[in-house]
Amino acid sequence: MEKITVSRYEPLFTIGLAAERVGVSPMTLRMYEQKGLILPYKTASGRRQFSIHDLEIVLCVREMIGRHGLNIEGIRRIMSLIPCWKVKKCSSAEKRSCPAFTNGGGPCWSLTDSICSRKGEECRECRVYRELPECSNLRKMVAG
Ligand code: SF4
Repeated sequence: MEKITVSRYEPLFTIGLAAERVGVSPMTLRMYEQKGLILPYKTASGRRQFSIHDLEIVLCVREMIGRHGLNIEGIRRIMSLIPCWKVKKCSSAEKRSCPAFTNGGGPCWSLTDSICSRKGEECRECRVYRELPECSNLRKMVAG
């Protein structure tokens, strides 16, 4: 029988199942999304679907809160330190006009006027969302 492999970035879980898997309420997941910490996939009808990667970020957020005593705003600030402009190799002109570089009000994927959003790029597919927010990297940022 052919082995089925699932990508950790594939939208798999409804909000109810996702919440159950990580031990929070659906309301908490919606709040994390609204605060820009996670980017669940949205179906054409607007239903959220979460990937394993999205849930790993949620677990990381829970760890930051439970073990390091951070609040949501603190976590947003740490995520805003991720130098997306290096990953995306932005030019100096692009950096100067992008709020992710100039004011870092939150993770770049939560900023509606980032250079990438102006270009219509899909943050869920981006290396910055997919690779950098791993908990070990964020832990290093907390530790300084
Ligand atoms: S595409 Fe999105 S996640 Fe990637 S660098 Fe741009 S704003 Fe950030």
